[in-house]
Amino acid sequence: MGVQEVYAIELGSEVDVFAARQGGREVAAAVGMDGQDLVRVATALSEVSRDVVASGGGRVVFSLPSPGLLRVVVTCNAVDRLPPSEDSAGLAAAGRLVDGVTESTDAAGHAVVTLEKRITSPVLLDDVRGSDLRRRLAASVHRSPLDELRTQNAELLAALDEAQARKQELLRVNAELEETNHGVLALYNELSTELEDTNRGVVALYAEIDQKNALLREASESKTRFLRNISHELRTPVNSVLGLARLLLDRNGVDPLTDEQRHQIEFINSSGEDLLRLVNELLDLAKAESGRIEPVIDDVDLATLFRELEGTTRPLITRDDVRLVVDEPTEVTRLRTDGTLLRHVLRNLLSNAVKFTEHGAITLAATPVEDGRVVRVSVRDEGIGISPEDQAKVFEEFYQVRGRLQTSAKGTGLGLAFARRVAVILGGDLRVQSTPGKGSTFLVELPVDGRPPSAADETGSATTTEPGPGPAHHHDPSRGGQENDGR
Ligand code: ADP
Repeated sequence: MGVQEVYAIELGSEVDVFAARQGGREVAAAVGMDGQDLVRVATALSEVSRDVVASGGGRVVFSLPSPGLLRVVVTCNAVDRLPPSEDSAGLAAAGRLVDGVTESTDAAGHAVVTLEKRITSPVLLDDVRGSDLRRRLAASVHRSPLDELRTQNAELLAALDEAQARKQELLRVNAELEETNHGVLALYNELSTELEDTNRGVVALYAEIDQKNALLREASESKTRFLRNISHELRTPVNSVLGLARLLLDRNGVDPLTDEQRHQIEFINSSGEDLLRLVNELLDLAKAESGRIEPVIDDVDLATLFRELEGTTRPLITRDDVRLVVDEPTEVTRLRTDGTLLRHVLRNLLSNAVKFTEHGAITLAATPVEDGRVVRVSVRDEGIGISPEDQAKVFEEFYQVRGRLQTSAKGTGLGLAFARRVAVILGGDLRVQSTPGKGSTFLVELPVDGRPPSAADETGSATTTEPGPGPAHHHDPSRGGQENDGR
């Protein structure tokens, strides 16, 4: 059956209660229990034994149903004589001391109480240890109740000592805990003060940023206003100077000019034209910045636009080694956009390509991207190129790269700034890719249906201005064709 019976004690008289107690202690020690567990088993057994002796005696059998469990079965001699458990102080006490107490009746009708206690670190009870145990128990049966009382007192003292030590330990842990709590509380207070300070700092910083933003916005607005006003003011006198210079040059043979005079007046004329170009570009930029350019969206035929651009670009090429290649657009042939603004941007890019290319090809082409929702128009040249550091700066106002060809090329440094703004206004973007010495490619990407891609698909530079089908085209009619071409 696997149940190892360890020892048995007859319970006949009161003295046997002590023997049972002692037996319990010894057996528990022999199977691996220690300290308090020994006392628990011994006390539980003496409690139950007392009841059993009072009800006419019985028998205690110790067994090990498994190595980790000690079972003590106490059987009464008399039939049905053990008091019901609720009246038995002994059974109640035993219940608190061991892991399990069960009451039953055996086949002959004797009351049986079974106590069970788990063994935390069991010790194998082999034959040698078993007979040793029995020998020791047999010898101690003759001990007097006084001896057992002494042992019990010693156990009690040990338990008291242990309880005292536990209490001390508890007090120490409590004190430690309290100290830790103080520390945690102090740390928490410190952190929350720090957090509060930081929060206050952040709030102040935000307020400052808002204020700076407002200042910047104001500054930018007043710059735009200034540019617009000054450009308007300058245009009239510059136009007068140009008119007068042309009048002086075109004298219909009356009072002919000397070569020197003609040369001087031509100089006035070309300087006036430069000035007018600058003023016009400033005006364009101011308009784009202040959002006053409202595009007029319409169907634009790319092939027609490319032919026009070819016509206006070819005359600008003065170097024999430079050729213009215009790829017939086949994949995207039309798009919805503002044709005038797009022409303006592309003329600007083409005229730059001509200015900064000494030999090689300048290619105008269009390809669909993003599943045909966007058209990418590219102006590629094999010119001097732009260094990586300058690639972002060329889109800034008045920025011109210092270098070869720059002095001979006329320009204001405003063309690309304006072109990018226009590309954004049209719902797209303008980018550059370039390798110094090899050439540059400027890419204008525009939505084919005239609507910028939704905010969700937006990548890179944001499109802030909704083009919308603007009611009126705000190009200044008095300027007729004052674009960046022909520089
Ligand atoms: P502008 O041509 O009137 O000077 P832009 O804003 O159009 O002004 O161009 C700014 C500068 O960018 C140019 O002065 C030139 O230094 C550089 N740049 C523009 N396009 C090219 C190009 N295709 N190749 C090399 N450099 C270029």
